[in-house]
Amino acid sequence: MNFFKKDTGLLIRFDDIAENMNWDLMDKCEKLFSDYNIKPVVGVIPNNKDKDLLSFPYRKNFWDKVRSWQSKNWVIAIHGYNHLYDNVTNKKDFFKHGGNSEFFGHSLEKQVTKLKKSIEIFNKNRIKVRCFFAPNHTYDKNTFQALKSVGINEVIDGYGLIPYEYANIKFIPQLFYKPMLLPFGIQSTQIHLNTWSMKDFKNFENFIIKNSKKIINYEYALSRLNNNIFYKILNYLTKNLLIIKRIYSKS
Ligand SMILES: [Zn+2]
Repeated sequence: MNFFKKDTGLLIRFDDIAENMNWDLMDKCEKLFSDYNIKPVVGVIPNNKDKDLLSFPYRKNFWDKVRSWQSKNWVIAIHGYNHLYDNVTNKKDFFKHGGNSEFFGHSLEKQVTKLKKSIEIFNKNRIKVRCFFAPNHTYDKNTFQALKSVGINEVIDGYGLIPYEYANIKFIPQLFYKPMLLPFGIQSTQIHLNTWSMKDFKNFENFIIKNSKKIINYEYALSRLNNNIFYKILNYLTKNLLIIKRIYSKS
């Protein structure tokens, strides 16, 4: 059915894009995306202070690179401010991911300040930003309030089989750790190149070659946003299944 076909696709989201990263694999992915006309979303950490990430090779003229992606119609997302986790969620975060957080648990003022500093760096480097995803998927209600107060109301995270709107924020669901296509639904990947081996890249390359027609861009994903009751029920079920799965697999 046409209806199902329109609501099936995968958005490619890359996490942890910063001056220090696995540039060798990033360059390979960029070539792959050019060959298959894929427009990913890249989550950029504007002021990376994360020690694990700082151990990767440094790229001079990083912001020129980001601008070149922007000119190819890739979407640049805000991935936090410095990627430093200074709070523990104890699974009280909005999506119940648990783990540590850069945003969760901070006052509204502090979260607004972080976001403003972040956006200032993007502006200074002439990068347009309109969407956000938090380091380690961890948000609280203040995070959403803070995002709206700085003019950001699109988030790539959360559960569901179709983008939806909640509390005046548009969410594109992010379900699985590995790139995976479901027979139905629109969702996003999360890809951490820095943890990849060459074999992981080869698997990803094969996945893209096989499924390139089902890879969608950011605009398309958002255009399928649907808040009707059928999708609300599906999104609710997906959320609970994934939370249960996570509890039992302890991942
Ligand atoms: Zn991250």
